[in-house]
Amino acid sequence: MRSVNLWAEVADKVAQIGANAELLVPASRLTTYRLGGPVALVVSITKIEQVIALGSCLTDDMNVVVIGNGSNILISDDGFDGVAVVLNPADDNTLGNMIELTERTAMIDASAGVRLPVLARRSAAIGWSGLEWAVGVPGTLGGAVRMNAGGHGSDMAGTLHDADVVNLRNGRLVRVAKQDLGLRFRGSAITDEMCVVSARCQVTRGSVEKCQEEISAIVGWRRENQPGGQNAGSVFVNPAQSSKSAGALIDEAGLRGTRRGTAEISQKHANFIQADEKTTAADIVALMCDAQETVLARTGTMMYSEIRLLGFTPEISERFQGRHLNDPNVANAEAKLKSLL
Ligand SMILES: Cc1cc2nc3c(=O)[nH]c(=O)nc-3n(C[C@H](O)[C@H](O)[C@H](O)COP(=O)(O)OP(=O)(O)OC[C@H]3O[C@@H](n4cnc5c(N)ncnc54)[C@H](O)[C@@H]3O)c2cc1C
Repeated sequence: MRSVNLWAEVADKVAQIGANAELLVPASRLTTYRLGGPVALVVSITKIEQVIALGSCLTDDMNVVVIGNGSNILISDDGFDGVAVVLNPADDNTLGNMIELTERTAMIDASAGVRLPVLARRSAAIGWSGLEWAVGVPGTLGGAVRMNAGGHGSDMAGTLHDADVVNLRNGRLVRVAKQDLGLRFRGSAITDEMCVVSARCQVTRGSVEKCQEEISAIVGWRRENQPGGQNAGSVFVNPAQSSKSAGALIDEAGLRGTRRGTAEISQKHANFIQADEKTTAADIVALMCDAQETVLARTGTMMYSEIRLLGFTPEISERFQGRHLNDPNVANAEAKLKSLL
């Protein structure tokens, strides 16, 4: 970790642009795993102007990342030596809680901090269809765009129209069309240096009854099939080279219920890892290694992580997130998006 003095200087600069800065924030406050070491500096932002100005407070060598609801992130026990940007809902802001519905075009314009279940329910309540799948995904709209979150046969790419994205280094704000965001299965060309501040979703007019029925069916299915408590949803992406889901591969390898420390491969859904108040990030990673190695040895299928790992060694990060590093399509999409910003 860099010295606290250095981060305190950055915090002073952040205060001058009107955002709130907090030093050494426990990762447990920022993610749904509720564990991990300290994050050097957390910047809570309530206005787009603050996102735009943030770059002037940072030097190029400082790591920066946006954290939404932290429902897809694991932070190491050593913490994250960088800046975590959080879009904070406040009464008067357009970043955390704005949802506007345009009747003429059936378009939903929402700020990046809005929670997906809120968005799905608001849309369904007036019979606008297309976002029902999102009711069980406990993330923010910004995180969902970045991850191309999805489920129940649909995903963000299915409804997204465009997103407003800020380059956190140079402060450029650009409205980016969906096709330029490089959306792929559970990922996109959006990098850590980019912050989605709002997005528009194109829905279709349907019936309130049908939308509500679908919402209820999805909520029921989730209760039946997924565990609650401390987790970050599916740990591994479904591998492209297998007809089986990551959960099925882990299950068939007999790993359901395997424990490391107090972390456990969920009995209810084998692609979830459950934590409790004693679990460390190292326990979670140990189980990820067990699952990755066992499935590889058994089936020849390499599984990569869906969850973002922050603050880990390059070896661990590459081991789990290496799949896209050598993919020219991903590199091209990232270069194209970068050139727009
Ligand atoms: C119980 C449970 C069930 C889940 N089910 C599903 C599911 O069915 N389908 C699915 O796809 N996912 C699922 N997830 C995972 C997770 O909810 C999604 O990936 C969600 O979209 C993440 O949103 P978030 O705001 O929590 O993002 P975070 O976890 O905070 O961040 C995820 C990534 O997005 C980036 N990010 C966050 N906000 C922004 C922003 N505004 N601008 C730019 N980058 C940003 C972060 O830097 C990070 O790289 C589940 C998780 C849980 C805990």
